[in-house]
Amino acid sequence: MKTIFVLFLSVFLLAGCALNLLTGRNQLSLVKESDLQLMATSEYKTFLTEHNVLSSRTSRDAATVDRIGAQIANAITKYYDSQGKGSVLEGYSWEFNTVESKEINAWCMPGGKVVIYTGLLPVTQNETALAIVMGHEIAHSVAKHGNERMSQAMVQQMGGMALEVALAQKPQETQDLFMMTYGIGSEVGAMLPWSRQQETEADQYGLIFSAMAGYDPREAISFWQRMSAAGEGSPPEFLSTHPSDETRIRKLKQFIPEALKYYTPRN
Ligand SMILES: [Zn+2]
Repeated sequence: MKTIFVLFLSVFLLAGCALNLLTGRNQLSLVKESDLQLMATSEYKTFLTEHNVLSSRTSRDAATVDRIGAQIANAITKYYDSQGKGSVLEGYSWEFNTVESKEINAWCMPGGKVVIYTGLLPVTQNETALAIVMGHEIAHSVAKHGNERMSQAMVQQMGGMALEVALAQKPQETQDLFMMTYGIGSEVGAMLPWSRQQETEADQYGLIFSAMAGYDPREAISFWQRMSAAGEGSPPEFLSTHPSDETRIRKLKQFIPEALKYYTPRN
């Protein structure tokens, strides 16, 4: 009986681990990406109806976000296609929206659903820094970090229940977990912080994607320093989940030479 259980458990754990095609790292993945994308599409729609979304026809900021988004999405497609890994982006249908909010925040949900809060713009100050932070958030998404974190939370809080079962049996708890995983809730402190490794991966690949989109990766250093300064006193939620310290700045400096190989300045 015990042997059968152990066998079952190891099959379960094996099935729950997936090699990430972007990073080459084995990640816990109990949640189907297509299920997460479905959930994201619905939560994204709800979020947009509850916030003041700026139109790119009347807002220069929203137009800038749209332009950067299109360029980064294009760069990511090229990056994966060049490596024969286009399947990573299966189900992606990019959307970029700018919402009126004092919060210093930005995120990308599975399937490429991006939101930039206007409170971030005084910190980014220029298009290049905005592209760098968008590249970073999008890298979290395509590196399936949300899936990894959601899977970990489901093991801890729901005994590894499949997402569709959890949704049917515990809809509210499952939705709360999703919101916490992606930091969409309005409560401060409601977001689960990214791990150091996830942050490093998002920095590394985010810089490559934004460089391919035509933005100078060297701007990342001064941007993250400004972000750190913005957090003195009372750190914004974004900073508590994306700690900007000396270790991070040092790693960013190590990633810049590689990103520069992909960099072609825009005209
Ligand atoms: Zn991050």
